[in-house]
Amino acid sequence: FGSPINPPHSPHPPHPPHPNLPIMQLSTRLACFSTLPFLLTPVIADGPFYGDPPDANHPWGVHDHNRPQPKIVTPGTFSSQEVPGKPPSDAVVLFDGTEATMKNWVPAGKPKNDKRWTLTNGALQCTPGAGTVKTTAEFGDCQLHIEWTAPTQIKGKSQGRGNSGVFFLGGAIEVQVLDNDNNPSYADGMAGSVYGVAPPMANPLRKPGEWQAYDIIFRRPVYKDGMEVDPGRVTVLINGVVVQDNTPLEGGGGHRGRSKSRPFPESGPLTLQDHGNTTAFRNIWYRPLPPRAVEGGTDGRLTKEAAMAKR
Ligand code: MG
Repeated sequence: FGSPINPPHSPHPPHPPHPNLPIMQLSTRLACFSTLPFLLTPVIADGPFYGDPPDANHPWGVHDHNRPQPKIVTPGTFSSQEVPGKPPSDAVVLFDGTEATMKNWVPAGKPKNDKRWTLTNGALQCTPGAGTVKTTAEFGDCQLHIEWTAPTQIKGKSQGRGNSGVFFLGGAIEVQVLDNDNNPSYADGMAGSVYGVAPPMANPLRKPGEWQAYDIIFRRPVYKDGMEVDPGRVTVLINGVVVQDNTPLEGGGGHRGRSKSRPFPESGPLTLQDHGNTTAFRNIWYRPLPPRAVEGGTDGRLTKEAAMAKR
């Protein structure tokens, strides 16, 4: 076993009487009495044998000190409208406003013309007609941060205004980018929707021309022996407001058609859509996420086989 088996719980050791208790005022004694449950906390509350032992689905005991420590990550900073924030220390930077990170982006298809996305005012800006761009990096489950701004010149309505999109795994699902400031559209195609699957739970967009921050936690579907064991899920915050909460992907959605659940590739590029608007992006980074318990992860409620393997 990788961790010690805990002994059966022993009765809590008696708390020694407070030496000054007899001369305390009544009110003080009552206050003392009211904190008694805390004082009865076992003496070795943080010791090596504390909590329920490992079981069939959990290779670690509860509060097991042998369990690996989480890795240290230095947090980043939040963006202001004027200045993009800094990513956390373990993030993979996809775009930070520099020419060097423009090289992380290439046309997703065969270019039909000379038009290309541009580095404009420190942002990665769509040139209508240039087509979708993709990252040279390929990755799967992740925490993604991306900020975008819609053109200030209001043109078009519904899906025609400030439209772009954040696509995972080369196009498997789209988290919609759209200027829905005073611009209704079909709900399952609004900003922060899983396009064609699930509307955002709120519309916390700022005005066009202002920066909108998306924080997205993406988990692809998991299949085992041809059976779906997790439909894949996405959580999205727009400007710090939750708009998707662990939403099942239902195949990833699409335009007009109802998608069916299906396996996704294990990894793929992130792509940004050219939908005919000069939508621009900044401060794009991701952090890969470890596998879930259902796909062989080492934390959470594991299968008996996985728990035994870990012991
Ligand atoms: Mg779109």
